[in-house]
Amino acid sequence: MATDRATWRNIVREGAALYNDDLYHAAQDKRRLRKERATTKQPKPFTTTLPCPHCTRIIRSSIGLYAHLKTHKDQEGGQSYSTTSDRR
Ligand SMILES: [Zn+2]
Repeated sequence: MATDRATWRNIVREGAALYNDDLYHAAQDKRRLRKERATTKQPKPFTTTLPCPHCTRIIRSSIGLYAHLKTHKDQEGGQSYSTTSDRR
């Protein structure tokens, strides 16, 4: 191999060029896919609303509705869990 240095250099140069081309094209494809995803898919806005069955209040999360329903339970004379029911 060391005796045919010119052939060895050409083989190494071609291999490195092929490797660089593959890296470049893979990066281009990855970038194109990322840009397509960013332009076509917009995140959906938060639209979940849960109306309170006892009053007109609209609550945006199920845990919020759970906490709000506890205030109605307090108002109806049920078992009281907190003393801050007049907050809501
Ligand atoms: Zn309510």
